[in-house]
Amino acid sequence: MKWKQQLLELTPYQPGKSIDDVKRQYGLEKIVKLASNENPFGCSEKVIAAIKYSAASFPIYPDGYATNLREALVNHFHLSPAQFIFGNGADNIIQIISRAFLSSDSNTVMAKQTFSQYKHNAVIDGAEIKEIPLIDGEHDLNGMLEAIDEKTSVVWVCNPNNPTGTYISENRLKAFIEKVPSDTLVVVDEAYVDYVVADDYCESIKLLDQFPNLIILRTFSKIYGLASLRVGFGISHPDIIKILEPAREPFNVNTIGQAAAKAAIEDQQYAEICKQKNREGLELFYRFCEENGLDYYPSQANFILIDFKMDGNAVFQFLLEQGFIVRSGKALGFPTAVRVTVGSKEQNEGVIQAMTNLLAEKTVI
Ligand SMILES: *Cc1c(COP(=O)(O)O)cnc(C)c1O
Repeated sequence: MKWKQQLLELTPYQPGKSIDDVKRQYGLEKIVKLASNENPFGCSEKVIAAIKYSAASFPIYPDGYATNLREALVNHFHLSPAQFIFGNGADNIIQIISRAFLSSDSNTVMAKQTFSQYKHNAVIDGAEIKEIPLIDGEHDLNGMLEAIDEKTSVVWVCNPNNPTGTYISENRLKAFIEKVPSDTLVVVDEAYVDYVVADDYCESIKLLDQFPNLIILRTFSKIYGLASLRVGFGISHPDIIKILEPAREPFNVNTIGQAAAKAAIEDQQYAEICKQKNREGLELFYRFCEENGLDYYPSQANFILIDFKMDGNAVFQFLLEQGFIVRSGKALGFPTAVRVTVGSKEQNEGVIQAMTNLLAEKTVI
């Protein structure tokens, strides 16, 4: 058969062991998952109310235009309805962009240690992939510019970057986009924007007027606590949205997700509380790292990448057996680190205790 040969290069997404399996295997009563940057506090109460309200609509296809959610976002961002595209998670928007812009005739530029789905989709769509290594955990924007040529149809920027949590300042981002050719699409993935506290960070929404080749990705999976409902969106110039729309499945965002996302964006107070608690959590991790001489990247997101200077899979395994699921840095391009999602105060203290146990054990060895 004549399938796309590049699929053989890819491994399908490996779902982690279920929490129940891990409990049974290690005889643990409680497992805390700090692996996928979900919101440990869940979603706003107002979201729960909105979901109850939408139950009557189950037999009917979702609104393919996401009218109510679109209107809520128009009000929130003060943009026009034609500037939005909705996805079954931001992952789906990445897929749509890839499908619409990438082929074996094109190439695409991205950081080497960044969100995996840019590359994954580009491989499927057959584009040449140019991965530029981070410098000190940050995008090498000059290196990325140098890699762009007349065949580059998309350049990906993750800001803040997953898995490092680092960010690109307003001046640097602007200077970068100015130098990208106007016929190359610049994707700025802002999945963690709502956690950012840095003064010189720039929500790239304010660059939209200036750059018609810019698209911004956002998600309801992180601070809004709706990862299982799969709602993400892109914001761009109406001409770009028009190009992408035919590549979108008509009913890609489900009814519950639309109702939940609308309620979530309208409760900014809740997001603000989560942001604050996340900051307090990060401070705990910073202190732990500093007291123990561990390297980490200061984070603008809801996770922290900590370098244990030992095999990341071994650190992962040790913490797993203590009841904490984190992400090994191995698959993320940081083989001696782990990425830990900031949890609730109790969860943070718990995983820090487990990491302290690991360091104590290592000294004994
Ligand atoms: C989590 C994440 C996404 C995907 O979010 P979904 O809306 O759940 O698909 C996209 N980009 C980055 C950088 C992420 O960390």
